[in-house]
Amino acid sequence: TERMTLEEDLKSGLLENQFEVYYQPKVNMQTGEVIGSEALVRWHHPTLGNIRPDIFIPVAEESGIIIQLGEWILRTACRDTLKLQQMGMGDLQVAVNISAVQFTGGDLLPTVKRALEETEFSATSLELEITESAVMHDPEAVIRSLHELSQFGIKLAIDDFGTGYSSLAYLKRFPVDTLKIDRAFIKDISRDSDDVVIVEAVLGLGKHFGLKVVAEGVEDNDQLEFLKRQGCDIAQGYHLSPPLAFDQYLAWLEDWNRERDEIDSGVDAASEYNSAVVQLHKNGRNA
Ligand code: C2E
Ligand code: CA
Ligand code: CA
Repeated sequence: TERMTLEEDLKSGLLENQFEVYYQPKVNMQTGEVIGSEALVRWHHPTLGNIRPDIFIPVAEESGIIIQLGEWILRTACRDTLKLQQMGMGDLQVAVNISAVQFTGGDLLPTVKRALEETEFSATSLELEITESAVMHDPEAVIRSLHELSQFGIKLAIDDFGTGYSSLAYLKRFPVDTLKIDRAFIKDISRDSDDVVIVEAVLGLGKHFGLKVVAEGVEDNDQLEFLKRQGCDIAQGYHLSPPLAFDQYLAWLEDWNRERDEIDSGVDAASEYNSAVVQLHKNGRNA
């Protein structure tokens, strides 16, 4: 009963604009540059309050509502990111999560093309995140679809890399640009030697195949420093910022860029960069 109610609520929620897209910044650790964000959907339910995507995305997938919801998320992410680019926030990318259902039953390519046309957002600034398990569900169909998207200029990331069934054999055949190391491996990275080996292996794979590697779930400075030393370029996590509503994301970008400008003209760049991270981290928490 709960599930059916949730399904009905999802439908009316879409009509009544109860969803909001949040953005979590991704930072190049070596340069301090913000490369863009991951779009993460939020549902403000009128009576139940905020419902986590872990709860409602599976229901949206099973009921097929994810097709419509996913299209709305895609358009919103493109529109918002274009706005930030036009405001001079830099050549920001946005990464949008795509569920398996959107791949197999949703005419993904026409949907993405339509979103780009409507919003006038550039295909090369858009990245789609798909999980290993979504890929493995129907590898041949997904590979075809990925090639079409990639020819169109869209970037592709494998999410939660290392947690699903092995896709190592497929890595050769995927037109993939980015691997996202799951936060489970980052969590104990400064203590657990098994995790260190896993992270090193993913970085090695990334290097070999010419892929970007993003570490997600970076929660403290030890993890950040460790990843930097290992040669990981891009980090995402609470240590840098939690996912933020559009206005908060804009304010965060302004703060971040201001601090970076000050550091560029400062003397001791490295230590000031670290204190800037800590300060922004505090701001993010307060937000
Ligand atoms: P995901 O794609 O792996 O997204 C990362 C999740 O980790 C997000 O949870 C994010 O808020 C959280 N996170 C970020 N930094 C940290 C950190 O430092 N520590 C910890 N512990 N967590 C961190 P969120 O937003 O609750 O989303 C959960 C999942 O729901 C996502 O996992 C994704 O699978 C799904 N999801 C979220 N938004 C969308 C969407 O727009 N479309 C689809 N299809 N799925 C979505
Ligand atoms: Ca993701
Ligand atoms: Ca992930």
